[in-house]
Amino acid sequence: MCGIIGYLGPQAAEPILLESLRRLEYRGYDSAGIAVLDRQGAPTSVKCEGKVAALLERLEGRSLPGQVGMGHTRWATHGRPSEINAHPHTDCDGRFYVIHNGIIENFQELREELLAAGHRFLSEGDTEVIPHLIEQAYAGDLVDATRTALRRLRGAFAVVVLGSTDPDTLIGARLNAPLVVGVGEREWFLCSDIPAILPYTRQVLVLGEGEMAVISPVGPVVSTIADGAEVEPRVIRVEWDVLAAQKGGYPTFMRKEMDEQPAAVENALRGRLLDSGEVRFPDWDPPPAVAAGWTRVRIVGAGSAYYAGLVAKYAIEELSGIPVEVETASEFRYRPTVVDARTLTVAISQSGETADTLAAARESRARGSHVVALTNVVASSLALEADGVVNLHAGPEIGVVATKTFVTQAACGILLGLHLAGRAKSLDRPAARAVVAGLRAVAPAQRLVLAGAERLAVLGGVIADHPAVLFIGRGINYPTALEGALKLKEISYQHAEGYPAGELKHGPIALLDRSMPVVAFATAGRTRDKMRSNIEQVRARQSPVIAIVSAGDDSLRGVATELISVPEVPELVSPMVNVVVAQLLAYHAALVRGCDVDQPRNLAKSVTVE
Ligand code: GLU
Repeated sequence: MCGIIGYLGPQAAEPILLESLRRLEYRGYDSAGIAVLDRQGAPTSVKCEGKVAALLERLEGRSLPGQVGMGHTRWATHGRPSEINAHPHTDCDGRFYVIHNGIIENFQELREELLAAGHRFLSEGDTEVIPHLIEQAYAGDLVDATRTALRRLRGAFAVVVLGSTDPDTLIGARLNAPLVVGVGEREWFLCSDIPAILPYTRQVLVLGEGEMAVISPVGPVVSTIADGAEVEPRVIRVEWDVLAAQKGGYPTFMRKEMDEQPAAVENALRGRLLDSGEVRFPDWDPPPAVAAGWTRVRIVGAGSAYYAGLVAKYAIEELSGIPVEVETASEFRYRPTVVDARTLTVAISQSGETADTLAAARESRARGSHVVALTNVVASSLALEADGVVNLHAGPEIGVVATKTFVTQAACGILLGLHLAGRAKSLDRPAARAVVAGLRAVAPAQRLVLAGAERLAVLGGVIADHPAVLFIGRGINYPTALEGALKLKEISYQHAEGYPAGELKHGPIALLDRSMPVVAFATAGRTRDKMRSNIEQVRARQSPVIAIVSAGDDSLRGVATELISVPEVPELVSPMVNVVVAQLLAYHAALVRGCDVDQPRNLAKSVTVE
C-alpha cells in the first residue's frame, strides 16, 4: 500500500530518496519521511503528515548528510496519519530505523510484551514494534537481530532497516508485500515498486517471499528470513516506461486494481478472524452495554458502497438475525427516519468523504445511534466522526470506479455479520467456522476468475455492440447484478439495469428481444434452480444470455448462450467472486467502445458534494 525506497551507494542519498518518493506517491500519501546515516553512522530523520511536498517544505532545502538512507510514503492502516505515526520508526535509543509496508497482525501482543520489558513507544501504529524487537535482539550483529525480529512478526511486511551500528549496511526483507532490489553501478536501491528506481537502473533483483537482502558496498547477499540460508539472486532487466511502471505494467489503473482484489480481500480479513469463527476489529470495540441494546442495523452508502451495503444486509440478517435496512445516503438525509440508540448505523464510503454519507452518519449520531464507518481512508472525515472504524485495507484505488473497494466493503460487511452473530450468540461454532472458510476461499477463487480474463474480454466485446444490457441475480447476488450494471453504465456509457431475476415477469420482461443481452448470476446457492427457470424465460424471448455458473454445473449448457464457470464458493461470499466477471465484462466493453476507464466522463472518485 505504501511506497518504500532505500539507497546505498556513492551518491548523496537524500535527493535520490526524495525524487523516488515523488514517483511512489500514488501508492500512499498521508504522511512521508526519510532517514539518512552519515559515514560515522549518525542518523538524521525528518517526517511529517501530508504529501512529499510537505516533507520538502519541512526540509527547507536542508540536505541530510549521508550515502545510505530510506524514505517512505504512508497509507495508514493502523493509527491516524500524523507526524508521530509517519515512518521511519525507531527504537528507544534512536539506533535502528525501520520503514514498513503492510500489516503486523500480532502487533498488540508484541507491543504489550515490549512495554513490559521497558520499551517506550511513541506511535499508535503497528510498525513501531519492529525497531524495538531489533533493539531487544541486538547483540552486536544487526543482520541477526533483524532476522530474529522479523521471525516474530505475523501478517504482511516489506521492510527496510538501517542501524547506526552498521553505517555501511542496508537491509530489506519481505513477506506478503512487494520489495525489489535495484542494481546500479556500485549502488543499490530497495523499493516497493519499480517506477521509483527507473531513472537510476533497469536491473532488478527480485526478492522472493520470506527473503531478505543485506546490502553492503560489495553488493547484496540474499538469504531466507526463516533460517538464514543463502539464496541465489535472480536479476532481471525491465523495459517499462515510468507511467507504465506506476501501473505495474498494466494498461490502466482499473485493470491493475481488479488484479489486486484477491490481495485486498486477504488484507481485509487479516488479523480479524479468529480460528473459533469469531471476528475482532482492532479499531472498533463498542462497549457490550451499548451493543446489547441494538435491535436493528441501518446501513447508508452511495453508488457501489450502497450495493456493498446490500450484500452486508443479506449477511448480517442471515448470520445474526438482526433486521437490517439499507438506504442510499442521499435519500436518508431528507426524510424523517426512525433512528435512535437501538440502531447501529453502518456508514460505508471508500473515501470517507462522501458528503451524503457523512451527513447521514452525523444525523444518525445526533439521534443517539452508534455509528461505525467502513472506509478505506483511516483519517477521513467519516472515520474521525464515527464511533468506530472498520478499515477496508484495500490500498489506494486510483481508477475512478470502485473495484477492490467494492469487494473489501462486501468482505467487511460479512465480517460485521459474523461479529454481530458472535455478540448475539446466534451461530454455533461449526457454522461460524464455515463462514470463515468461505471468506478465506474468496481470494483464490478471484485469482482463478482473473486468470480466465481472456474469454471475458471477448464476451465484453460482444456486449459492447448492444445499446442496453440487463443484469439479473437473486438473493445475495441481486446486489451483484446491480453493481455489474453500474460498472457498465459508469465506464462504457451503455444503458444497463440490475434486476432481481424473479421480478422480470413483473415488467422488464417486456424489454426482452434478441437485441438485449442478459447477464445472469446463477452460481450455486439456494435460488440456483429458480435462476435456471428465469433464464429459460429470458431465452424464450430470444435474448442472448451470458450465465455465470459454478464450475461443474452443466445444467444450463444448451440453454444459456454463453456459460462462464467460476470456482464454487459458499453463496454468502459469492458476490465477491461473481462481481469480478461483471467488472471484466464492463471493462472490455468499455475498451472496445474507446472509453477512458480510469477517468470516465462526469464522474469523480470522491463525491464531496450533495
Ligand atoms: N501498517 C503500517 C502503518 O499503518 C504501514 C502502512 C503502509 O503500508 O503504508 O503505518
